[in-house]
Amino acid sequence: MERLIEGFRRFRSGYYEQHRARFERLTGRRQHPRYAVVTCSDSRIDTTLIFDAIPGEIFLIRNIANLVPPYRPDHRQHSTSAAIEYAVRVLKVGQFVVLGHAGCGGIHALLDPPAEATDFVTSWLEIAAPARERVMRQADAITPGQRQQACELEALKDSLENTLTFPWVAERVAEGSLLVDALYLDLQHGQLLLYNRSKAAFDAV
Ligand SMILES: [Zn+2]
Repeated sequence: MERLIEGFRRFRSGYYEQHRARFERLTGRRQHPRYAVVTCSDSRIDTTLIFDAIPGEIFLIRNIANLVPPYRPDHRQHSTSAAIEYAVRVLKVGQFVVLGHAGCGGIHALLDPPAEATDFVTSWLEIAAPARERVMRQADAITPGQRQQACELEALKDSLENTLTFPWVAERVAEGSLLVDALYLDLQHGQLLLYNRSKAAFDAV
């Protein structure tokens, strides 16, 4: 804990002091983020840093492999679906983004399951099983690295389509008050790709 507590003290005397008025303004009212981002829990993905954003701008939803499950209300506990509902129906964000990334450990585990059984991880990753199946059909023709990236991109496209199965997402998209997009981050090469749904292709931005 020491490292974290020391870090907080440095934050409080540095960044917090310099931006104190902004923090007081932000916390004195309800949050009003413009963006909701679903991304991986991977410790290297820092959306505030990579989008050059400030606290209060991005409502962040994190899970293993940035997966969005299909709309399936069954009175069980669905953390990601609950957060999407809150972002879209309560906070009324204007832009929703699913942010995938290169070198995803979750997707790696989906393609190459660890020998040890898990209580939650394996069944969570099954959301991306259809993506894995599509990629495995051409697995012989591509390298393991290409297979990994192909699965990351396919799972990302499925998560975007799954987002649109939530009826209140689809309604807001249809009325033009919500944009839903997918981005793919490659930190090793400093690249960000935007999915063009009409072309079914990823373009560098
Ligand atoms: Zn990941």
